[in-house]
Amino acid sequence: MSKPMIHSNDGIFYIENVPVKKITEDYGTPAYVYSKQLIIDTFHSFRNSFKQFDPLVCFAVKANSNIAILNLLAEQGAGFDIVSEGELKRVIAAHGDPRKVVFSGIGKSINEISFAINHNILAFNVESEGELRRIQSVAKSLNKKASISIRVNPNVDAKTHPYISTGLKDNKFGVDENKSVELYCLAKDMDAIEIKGIDCHIGSQITDINPFIDSTKKLVALIDHLKTLDIHIEHIDIGGGLGINYNDELPPTFLEYAEAMSHVIGTRKLKVIFEPGRSLIGKAGVLLTNVEYIKEGPNKNFAIIDAAMNDLMRPSLYDAYHEIINIDAHQCIRKKYDIVGPVCETGDFLGKERLLAIKDNDTLAVLDTGAYGMSMSSNYNSRPRAIELMVDDEIVHVIRERENFEHLIFGESLLP
Ligand SMILES: *Cc1c(COP(=O)(O)O)cnc(C)c1O
Repeated sequence: MSKPMIHSNDGIFYIENVPVKKITEDYGTPAYVYSKQLIIDTFHSFRNSFKQFDPLVCFAVKANSNIAILNLLAEQGAGFDIVSEGELKRVIAAHGDPRKVVFSGIGKSINEISFAINHNILAFNVESEGELRRIQSVAKSLNKKASISIRVNPNVDAKTHPYISTGLKDNKFGVDENKSVELYCLAKDMDAIEIKGIDCHIGSQITDINPFIDSTKKLVALIDHLKTLDIHIEHIDIGGGLGINYNDELPPTFLEYAEAMSHVIGTRKLKVIFEPGRSLIGKAGVLLTNVEYIKEGPNKNFAIIDAAMNDLMRPSLYDAYHEIINIDAHQCIRKKYDIVGPVCETGDFLGKERLLAIKDNDTLAVLDTGAYGMSMSSNYNSRPRAIELMVDDEIVHVIRERENFEHLIFGESLLP
């Protein structure tokens, strides 16, 4: 297995073979930094775990949509799970293959459907009857056929944060199990629709294997039932959602996950598709930030840093935990700090009550921020987005420039 994202040697921290301090000296902070080797190794480790299925691993673009990262994954043979036309355009810009793209999401517009059909994507993951009818009509008007899977809502509790749980009856995603059979029958009679697969995605940061087993069992039972109706499913797409260890979670390993899935799928001749996001990229990125001020309050100490909720939203949004380490190890006393950004919101924190030895101008690394970090960032408080860097052995590549004021006001204008 590859080295962890940040590793130390004689008290000096490195990303691959570049000292972290060298990165911040050369490129400043806040900076998102990724490890090329770790991304490649994680992708192959995922795919190899499932090799008995000849799987198609469709990276969920929303987890990290930088085109350098998409390109790296495309070169390794990845497909992509997209949720918008913008994401499909990113895949194309990254030289990804649209024929390995599955299109999820509940609100696909006519333009998006038309763009995707024209690029011959692998399948639409259909989330409603209305969408199925719309795809049929758009495909017909283009004189083409559209391939589809139906996203089934298996009504399982993924036991994750409510905001990232998607497979419960009351969630907005997918089609009710019972309704899905009706929809497949409808699709079978549509002349511009080709039934290819069945799909589900039950949530994110799932650390228990059982919800995956339960949902896949339901899909397999549906496949068997559809066969009796002369509807033949070629692929089963079991979505993404596998969690990672941020703090003290113990998610299933890729191999454990694969073994459980192979048990459920058995000897059925199915192509298997996965849509992992977080589990492929989460551990391969860090957010580097500088300590601007130490502020000691009556009850709390604050380390005020130059990264904020606009750079990394997960702590504010989900109360998510990210480990934070000090790259400048030194001898001052460890104290409990809230690690907070400059944004004018009390919810702007990246960590709470962290026991750390910190002083002004130290560099902190917020770990495991490769997924849903940069891709969820914003310009709130007119803060330019961070630079993104990719380390390849001893070389650092800029894969997205730090934003400047021109980016901030792009497209805005004064009244005449
Ligand atoms: C977000 C999403 C994924 C990826 O989820 P992860 O938890 O990052 O693996 C996959 N499929 C769909 C439909 C999604 O919405």
